[in-house]
Amino acid sequence: MVDQKEAGRVISGDAQPDDDALDRSLRPRRMSDFVGQAQVKDILGIGIQAAKLRGESLDHVIIYGPPGLGKTTLAHIIANEMGVNIKVTSGPAIERAGDMAAILTGLQPGDLLFIDEIHRLNRVVEEVMYSAMEDFFLSWMVGKGLAARNINLRINPFTLVGATTRFSLISAPMRDRFGSVFRLDYYNQADMEVVVRRSAQILDLQTEPDGILEIASRARGTPRIANRLLKRARDYALVEADNEVTGNVARAALDMLRVDRLGLDESDHRLLSSIIDKFSGGPVGLDTLSACLSEDADTVMEVWEPYLLQLGFLERTSRGRVATPLAYNHLGRPWVDKAQSSTDQTRFSGF
Ligand code: ADP
Repeated sequence: MVDQKEAGRVISGDAQPDDDALDRSLRPRRMSDFVGQAQVKDILGIGIQAAKLRGESLDHVIIYGPPGLGKTTLAHIIANEMGVNIKVTSGPAIERAGDMAAILTGLQPGDLLFIDEIHRLNRVVEEVMYSAMEDFFLSWMVGKGLAARNINLRINPFTLVGATTRFSLISAPMRDRFGSVFRLDYYNQADMEVVVRRSAQILDLQTEPDGILEIASRARGTPRIANRLLKRARDYALVEADNEVTGNVARAALDMLRVDRLGLDESDHRLLSSIIDKFSGGPVGLDTLSACLSEDADTVMEVWEPYLLQLGFLERTSRGRVATPLAYNHLGRPWVDKAQSSTDQTRFSGF
């Protein structure tokens, strides 16, 4: 779930209220328009073709990875390529077994059910899913005490696509019922440039290659962030420049948003400089670090840290978080090799 403070970060991968329309207009509809993630596309593409040739529905699929990397987009693409309807819901939205039963009984043969944040399905609802996923059979209790009765129903074959940012929180019995599991990774620079160029074309925006490059490199390997930054640069170009996103326009727009050249914002800088200044570069435990940042530990671990880890600016060690020489360098701080300096001290003190 998006933390309120996180929702305000321009570099957050989570969807924000004004992303909706943009997400929809820029969302690739076919597998061939989906940029990057070659292995996922190849395996899924074969699975889809095979299912179509057999005239069967596709096996249930789970897609996991950080927010904004294309999980929802892929679910829509699968439905499109299979030529079936998609029904979209999310784990926290389904509270009772009966709600899930109503959704499942409403599906047409072959339909795709997309459950976002599937790790947040409650246990009772999850248990209804087991036989539905395995045998397309529903069995659930209604009423209580003497009035309780069991309802059994056959449902149409369907494909469940589950998305999650927290794969480890999905229970083992649930995980076992998926035919394939796909992990989406942060996109590399070249792929990000393709994403930004494609979005600029759809938005009918005039751009310079340097402008595309600048936005791509500050978007944290995340298409949703790239689209958001592009939109901000487009506004800036309209108001302050000649309506063209040049390198200078993109730089000025993103500097104004305080997104640095690697896509780090003030929160990232605060996290890294806290480790460096207050804890001599670490190691520092997650709870201590979070308290120092006045943030919730889960938010720091799930939202703040992944991109810093990916950049190699942060290390998670058994004794806590450590800022790496790359982080010192990016922040313009001199790095001292503590292992080396303690050996030197030992040497100088005569031991
Ligand atoms: P998630 O469900 O993982 O949070 P989405 O599927 O909603 O992410 O993607 C967010 C937006 O990013 C989409 O609307 C789409 O415009 C863009 N996007 C995501 N993945 C890609 C991709 N591989 N190629 C092009 N655009 C993408």
